[in-house]
Amino acid sequence: MQHDTLWNEAVAFTRAKSPASFEQWFSGVQFDGMTDGIVSLRARDEFVREWVDQHFLPTLVDYLRSQTGWSVQVSWCVGGDLDRPVAHGAGAPALPVRPRALSPDRPVEPVDDEEPPRSHDGKRSNGRMASTSVKAAPPPIEGLNPKYTFANFVVGPSNQLAHAAAIAAAGGGGPRHNPLFLCGGTGLGKTHLVHAVAHRFRAERAGRGEARILYVSAEKFVNEFVQALQEGRMNEFRARYRERCDLLLVDDIQFLASKTQTQEEFFHAFNALHQADKQIIVTSDKYPQQLEKMEERLVSRFSWGLVADIQGPELETRVAILRKKAQLEQIELADDVVLFLAQTIRSNVRELEGTLIRLAAKSSLLGRSIDIEFARQELALTSNPRASEAGVDDIQRVVCHHFKLRTSDLLSKDRHKSIAFARHVAMYLCKQRLKCSFPELGRAFGNRDHTTVMSAVRKVEALRTSDPEVRAHLEALERKLGTTAD
Ligand code: ADP
Ligand code: MG
Repeated sequence: MQHDTLWNEAVAFTRAKSPASFEQWFSGVQFDGMTDGIVSLRARDEFVREWVDQHFLPTLVDYLRSQTGWSVQVSWCVGGDLDRPVAHGAGAPALPVRPRALSPDRPVEPVDDEEPPRSHDGKRSNGRMASTSVKAAPPPIEGLNPKYTFANFVVGPSNQLAHAAAIAAAGGGGPRHNPLFLCGGTGLGKTHLVHAVAHRFRAERAGRGEARILYVSAEKFVNEFVQALQEGRMNEFRARYRERCDLLLVDDIQFLASKTQTQEEFFHAFNALHQADKQIIVTSDKYPQQLEKMEERLVSRFSWGLVADIQGPELETRVAILRKKAQLEQIELADDVVLFLAQTIRSNVRELEGTLIRLAAKSSLLGRSIDIEFARQELALTSNPRASEAGVDDIQRVVCHHFKLRTSDLLSKDRHKSIAFARHVAMYLCKQRLKCSFPELGRAFGNRDHTTVMSAVRKVEALRTSDPEVRAHLEALERKLGTTAD
């Protein structure tokens, strides 16, 4: 695993500075994992912890920081048997061991919620499982992807606000907003961010009692509600969502549209948690005001805290995301390939990631490295071959098909709202993708004045940034039209 490799490098670096003393002290220390920039260590006793903390950790942590750019922190567990000490202390004088009170036998659970439980190798002489003086970590949180951490999330201008607000919501500093409403088009990292909040929230609370975190998609919330109703378990359901919860994360809230009874239930859960100052985070593909068939009182509550949107990432962010994913998946990717992919796939990170994984799979199947030629061929196979040749007619046709209109509508004088909108979008796409002047476009759209086209393009440009629904239409259309270079 990547984190283990990084940790081993940091250990080697620190050991090299004073090998004998390192062996001695680190035979009383165990590495329990690293998540989200938090290194979990276990010390045999307080004495070892203090010494290692003071004499070795500055070097070790500096190394990790310099390699990752993260703000690394160390979380200690003190006490218990060590199954896998970092060093074996060969020839070193025995460490002073604090007499330990008898503790009940208890299986070791992973402290790091990103790491699966480790198997024990039977080295324990007394056959006893280790126990710690600090509470063992709770089981993994249901439905969370361990890879969706802040450390794996690339921050750029398009998601900066959402990212900062998410860190604050997790208790990581900065003003906390409650609720935090994250919105943006599909595949832009909303789910990734809320999972990261859950991981971080738990890490921040480590050692301070159980962090009760509930992560549900709105769809799951509906299903659980319906089931609880049918089985007469509403008290249990309510206790779960209104009382036994320190952090509530609800993904894709737009799914509650039209489900009035569930909305009512969610409303009460929201109020109870908000009143108790428990953090609530909701994600959505639309701004609160644009949510359809949603009770007004819920919509207004969604805007009580902070509404942070995530836009499509800029080229530099797309490059950084690709590099990060390639590193995580251990895929070798040359700089020119990274740039080519980032320039070609612009709408959505999920698509960017999918392409990378597909390229990697195919390259390993064919035993061929991912060079620029290979990447070009692969993308040509999957994108619209007519993309580069598409003209005004093609764009008009695709737009009409998308909005279920006739081409003649676009060229007509009809100023009905939905037709005018489709017309503006078509003009915008033509201007973006073709080397046509405004007057040329005016002629191609039923002999309109060039100023009409200019104002339409500007209008759509502005909506693209302010209105997720418009952005979603544009992204869908861009996908249908195929890709163009930046
Ligand atoms: P959404 O919930 O907004 O539809 P996801 O959170 O599921 O999107 O993100 C889709 C994919 O893109 C995930 O694999 C996620 O890890 C990745 N992703 C999105 N934004 C980023 C980012 N800024 N840095 C790293 N990965 C990202
Ligand atoms: Mg999602």
